[in-house]
This record gives sequence, C-alpha cells and structure tokens, in this order.
Amino acid sequence: MLVFDSAHLNRLQEDGLACVVCDKRFPLPALTVGVSSASSPVRACEECALLLEPPADPTTPRPGPSPDR
Ligand SMILES: [Zn+2]
Repeated sequence: MLVFDSAHLNRLQEDGLACVVCDKRFPLPALTVGVSSASSPVRACEECALLLEPPADPTTPRPGPSPDR
C-alpha cells in the first residue's frame, strides 16, 4: 500500500476526490491506490495508477541479451 505525504497533496487529492497524479475530479478516479499520511484513501485514474506502480523487482531476471556472450 502506497502512502502519500499529505504535504504534497491538495485538499481534494487528500480526501480521495481527485486523481493524485493528474488532479482530475470527474469522473471520479476509479482506483484506490493508497492512503494519505492522514490515512484517508487516495485515488487515481486507471492510466495514472500505472505510473504509480512500484518499480519492478531488480532481482527478477529480465528478457534480453544474455550477459555471457
Ligand atoms: Zn489521473
């Protein structure tokens, strides 16, 4: 669960009434992506939520050129 610092959110974002990424209010963002540091739910649009995904686990092997060529 992501925790967003309320200091970086506006009032609507903090209350889950606007997208935490793009600040869109209507339609109401569909996804709850985390909580604010005031522990209210924080929302984002589906497409914006993709930007919030935590980075991939660096230990996961990635497809690509083999290192032992
Ligand atoms: Zn958005």
